[in-house]
Amino acid sequence: MTAPTMDALLANWEMVVGLEVHCQLKTNSKAFCGCSAAYGGQPNTNVCPVCLALPGALPVLNGRAVELATTAALALNCTVHPVSVFARKNYFYPDLPKGYQISQFDQPLATGGHVDIGRRADSSPIRIGVTRVHMEEDAGKSVHDRYPGVTAIDLNRSGVPLIEIVSEPDMRSAEEAGAYLRVLKQILEYMDVSDDSMEEGSLRVDANVSARRRGETALGTKTEVKNMNSFSGVERALEVEWIRQVGVLEAGGTVQQQTMLWDGAAQQVRPSRTKEGSHDYRYFPEPDLPPLVLAIDWIAKMRHDLPELPADRRARFAKDYGLGEYDVDLITANPRLADYYESVARAHGDPKAAANWVMGDVLAQLKTTGQDITTFRVRPQDLAGLLNLMRDGVVTHTAARQVFARMVATGDAPAQIAEREGLVKVNDDGQLAGWLDEVIAEHPAEVERFRAGEKKLQGVLIGAMMKKSRGRADAKQIGAMIAKRLTSNE
Ligand SMILES: [Zn+2]
Repeated sequence: MTAPTMDALLANWEMVVGLEVHCQLKTNSKAFCGCSAAYGGQPNTNVCPVCLALPGALPVLNGRAVELATTAALALNCTVHPVSVFARKNYFYPDLPKGYQISQFDQPLATGGHVDIGRRADSSPIRIGVTRVHMEEDAGKSVHDRYPGVTAIDLNRSGVPLIEIVSEPDMRSAEEAGAYLRVLKQILEYMDVSDDSMEEGSLRVDANVSARRRGETALGTKTEVKNMNSFSGVERALEVEWIRQVGVLEAGGTVQQQTMLWDGAAQQVRPSRTKEGSHDYRYFPEPDLPPLVLAIDWIAKMRHDLPELPADRRARFAKDYGLGEYDVDLITANPRLADYYESVARAHGDPKAAANWVMGDVLAQLKTTGQDITTFRVRPQDLAGLLNLMRDGVVTHTAARQVFARMVATGDAPAQIAEREGLVKVNDDGQLAGWLDEVIAEHPAEVERFRAGEKKLQGVLIGAMMKKSRGRADAKQIGAMIAKRLTSNE
């Protein structure tokens, strides 16, 4: 008998994943002082007695951070509590000068939300529970690679406002974890609460993962995986760690509850320090801050004023603009692209034509140049202007693409470019007939075969006409002219 294959072994096991996402809120200043919260900057320049933890300095809560945290929590369908409490989370770390982090513990800002991340085969939604959203401050940063043999501390990030979004262990595969993160990031982008950049550390993900035999309902012992710096890194790390756990369990061992670090270069997980239970942090209410009290009316107003959620926008685009699911997903991938499309569609009036250009030429340009839609040279009203010129027969489709290329390069208005570059459509029958004479004279063999019944040669002749006109002749119109001229008895 041969040993079962790896795939056959894994098929007996289920992956169980919960994610903790730290998201930096997009405020100008830090959570509890007036220092700039901007990313980058010379080390230790955005600091003051509060975020340096000098004795006697007192924290003052940033109201904007509360608004953004509340917006995020409501967008994730959480209940926002009228009273929440800041707590000290005590631990020693070189880049944590206070010796504690201000966080929230047993009375968090919000609880009990959910996010839908897709549909199962039976079309029921895959719903991931959001256990809680709480506010906290970031620690500083240890810099290991600046001075040989010495670790430096940069406290610019100390006190920057974060929310932590904790999910239920509802994900059953690495793909579901990836889907959850992408949906979450999109919601946060639509709410405009964060810059959502994993590279700049404004979005950080820790994963809790365990393995259990299929059919069981109790959770297995979990490990916490840290140090992933991309969504695909999270998916890969989960897969590797889960397979490691299944290996341990199949061999009759037990999984140790511990923190694992993902090593992306080696595609491996390795143990970090042993996981502390929450009691080790000696949480207690922060004595320097009163409980955070939010008026019920204010919470209701925040809910009412929420920006449009991605799912709502997708539904609206499908309904109002008659776009298919694929087109809608592509155009609403990020809110700035969706805004751009909507401006073009409204200014031009034909939503399908607008969608085709945005999904085709605009996205291709952005991809080639690595540009963002917000800095794209072609403004929505100018793209709409170009579509108007096509609709009104001022430029042909071929010429429009040349005009578009010039718009990308110069930022000029389409009518101006068409005029300047001589790309306005030629409607002059005399001019067109003259070109056709030349084409017929230059292609005697093709003309002969076309007359003999090889209709597909019309394409060759149209192509020759387009070349002669430099794209300024209308293909349909020329096709009709050729058919008329060459099938009439002369
Ligand atoms: Zn400060």
